[in-house]
Amino acid sequence: MNKRIIDILKLEAPAEIEVSGWIRSFRGNRFIALNDGSCMSSLQIVIDSNSFSKNILDELNNGASINVKGALVDSLGSGQKVELQGEEIKILGVSNQEDLQKTILQPKKHSLEKLREQGHLRMRTNLFGAVFRIRHHMAFAIHKYFNDKGYFYIHTPVITGTDAEGAGETFRVTTLPIGKENIDLKKDFFGKPTHLTVSGQLEAELAALALGKVYTFGPTFRAENSNTTRHLAEFWMIEPETAFADINQNINLGEDFLKYLINYGLEHCQEDLHFLSDRGVKEESQLPKDKRNELSLMERMQMVISNDFERITYTKAVEILLKSKPHKKKQFKYPVSWGVDLQSEHEKFLVEKHFKKPVVIVDYPKEIKAFYMRENSDGKTVAAMDILFPGIGEIVGGSQREERHDVLEKKCEEFNIPKEAIWWYLETRKFGTVPHAGFGLGFERLMMFVTGMTNIRDVIPFPRTPNNAEF
Ligand code: ATP
Ligand code: MN
Repeated sequence: MNKRIIDILKLEAPAEIEVSGWIRSFRGNRFIALNDGSCMSSLQIVIDSNSFSKNILDELNNGASINVKGALVDSLGSGQKVELQGEEIKILGVSNQEDLQKTILQPKKHSLEKLREQGHLRMRTNLFGAVFRIRHHMAFAIHKYFNDKGYFYIHTPVITGTDAEGAGETFRVTTLPIGKENIDLKKDFFGKPTHLTVSGQLEAELAALALGKVYTFGPTFRAENSNTTRHLAEFWMIEPETAFADINQNINLGEDFLKYLINYGLEHCQEDLHFLSDRGVKEESQLPKDKRNELSLMERMQMVISNDFERITYTKAVEILLKSKPHKKKQFKYPVSWGVDLQSEHEKFLVEKHFKKPVVIVDYPKEIKAFYMRENSDGKTVAAMDILFPGIGEIVGGSQREERHDVLEKKCEEFNIPKEAIWWYLETRKFGTVPHAGFGLGFERLMMFVTGMTNIRDVIPFPRTPNNAEF
């Protein structure tokens, strides 16, 4: 039976081993570096070339897949405790060396853009192996966190007919023929217009008002037309919703959750994080001094865990921004005044220059936030909260929800939201309504923070962005 390299490297020699993987290199007709994706490390396999036919030796090329049986022995060189003496080798799949030259499997430095173009192969690189192993551990940690806290995982629909989320541009879902004028939407599959979900929140609220504590973790779709390094058209979002909780308990949950995940990463992804941390430092050494991070990836993670997040009101944030100059002489590109939505340059300034730690902004003007957020007693602001992270900007957006039926109805009118469309949402406020709150964490934004990757396209296996839906 095959053993995975991550387990083999923990074994004591001697042991009889069978292992399968892909060749990373074959040196001096003697040393094979074999990687099976289970961890960053490759296993060193030593062979005696006299014991193998020319047919086999000829196929021991970079990229080929092989199965090896042999004895695990203590290693003297190689930097690893053990190495495998290859006694039997089966070639599983050969690697065409001429074609390989054109691919990113060729061992040299490739740009991240080029790696993206070869998305079918990029998971075989050290870099993306690390990123996607960490992605798994983070997803697992998210379920573990909520399960341990008594939250129930709830599946909200991917196709929705609600037009009320107001979270962004939607992708329409239809079976009607393309290109026909005057189509009758009543004849469409669902008998009404539908689209891919932009958030599972409204449905999660229904669940929270029955099960108490719930969370969603699913795909989310927004036809974001801006080609930024922080937006995808298809991304994954985690949305906990807690009944009998207010905005402060919601922020406490958000802070505790993020710290838990980062800590989990530091504990369970050490080898991959060391690789990414060193890589980040190396990449940055090429940048001008003022563009470099003062801290390495793992130091940034440690910094977030060991500091309380700064909590300030939107009004206070605006005051700080009005008094500050982001650069020696220059002002912000987007001028600040009470009532405007904060731009990423403002968020960056607060987190990276002013407080130098994660910042939670609460109590936003009601006009710039969604209709379902709970109105504060000042009549001007709502109990909204955004958590801002260094290098990322907004990582979490959430709020206490408006639980008062009359206020919510009034808000629907102010926001031009047809009550017929969300009658079911309004109705939950008529039968045992309770204070409740929740937030959305963008999974890929979290992934950016825990891998140090600066483009969101590099933390999801197959990114969807404007003009790009390959693979
Ligand atoms: P932003 O201002 O960054 O566009 P938003 O205000 O549209 O974010 P929300 O609607 O509050 O975001 O969504 C909750 C979370 O989902 C955000 O805090 C962010 O982490 C993530 N998110 C939002 N849009 C995207 C996107 N297009 N791609 C990846 N993650 C996203
Ligand atoms: Mn947005």
